[in-house]
Amino acid sequence: MTAQVIDGTAVARHVRADVAKGVEQLVAGGGTAPGLATVLIGDDPASEVYVRNKRRACVAAGMTDLHRHLPADVDQAQAAALVDELAADPAVSGILLQLPTPADLDAEALLARIPAEKDVDGLTTLNAGLLAQGRPGLRPCTPSGVMVLLDQYDVPLQGAEAVVVGRSVLVGKPMAQLLLERNATVTTCHSRTRDLAEVCRRADVLVVAAGIPGLVGADAVKPGATVIDVGIHRGENGLRGDVDTAAVAEVAGKTTPVPGGVGPMTIAMLLANTLTAAEVQQGLGG
Ligand code: NAD
Repeated sequence: MTAQVIDGTAVARHVRADVAKGVEQLVAGGGTAPGLATVLIGDDPASEVYVRNKRRACVAAGMTDLHRHLPADVDQAQAAALVDELAADPAVSGILLQLPTPADLDAEALLARIPAEKDVDGLTTLNAGLLAQGRPGLRPCTPSGVMVLLDQYDVPLQGAEAVVVGRSVLVGKPMAQLLLERNATVTTCHSRTRDLAEVCRRADVLVVAAGIPGLVGADAVKPGATVIDVGIHRGENGLRGDVDTAAVAEVAGKTTPVPGGVGPMTIAMLLANTLTAAEVQQGLGG
């Protein structure tokens, strides 16, 4: 058996087209196009590429690019002042602080200044709390992108055994909560989990976000399971994930490729969050 490949690039294209339509409708209805303020501090080349891609996608969806760049030697007060300025600016629907920030800045303190309704990365304590309580709010982009992929490929979640490998604030924890919200029976694994493969073999839906190339092999997959690979690693032969995809594809029912699986969904969900934020701020959402 060779698993069906979940085409994240195609799903992301649909999400982005839907967002672009939503932006058109917002403007046609007398609203203002959403404005996304990406904030890049310093000159980390990988972060520059990520931010450039987000800005391009934002413009392609009909949104206003309100990008801001600060030099690496900026101090905490200057960075905080910029976040405060964007927080107060009605043209800014969403603020995205690109992480990591330079080591001598306190990124958590900067994130804490982003108002929850402009927190399009879903990383503030308030939005994390709303998710934990199962109440509406802006959700982290990568795990919400995984939920869209599962839905687009009709993967049943209610009562399903779901295993999430990783418990980061960015991916693992919110992923587990989103699956729980959809009535899956969720197990979270982490670096201290005993016999990872045995726990993973329970899963009808296995989401791997550990940041270790090839961590999950065929021995960790139940026949027919859906395996979602969040990991991204740049190697000599291009990108690869946390899953040994070639081996797992012989056992699983559905798998995501790397690249072209979860990755493209992250930016698509950032755009979706920015539109939602703008609609709520303009009194049209919620
Ligand atoms: P992280 O380093 O913050 O967290 C990794 C988690 O994996 C931790 O909770 C840790 O306990 C767990 N872990 C580590 N070793 C383990 C092991 N041997 N067994 C079980 N669990 C183990 O990483 P993160 O930010 O959650 O990202 C995870 C991966 O996803 C990375 O490769 C990252 O590049 C990728 N990522 C991709 C996207 C995307 O858009 N596709 C977005 C965010 C992160």
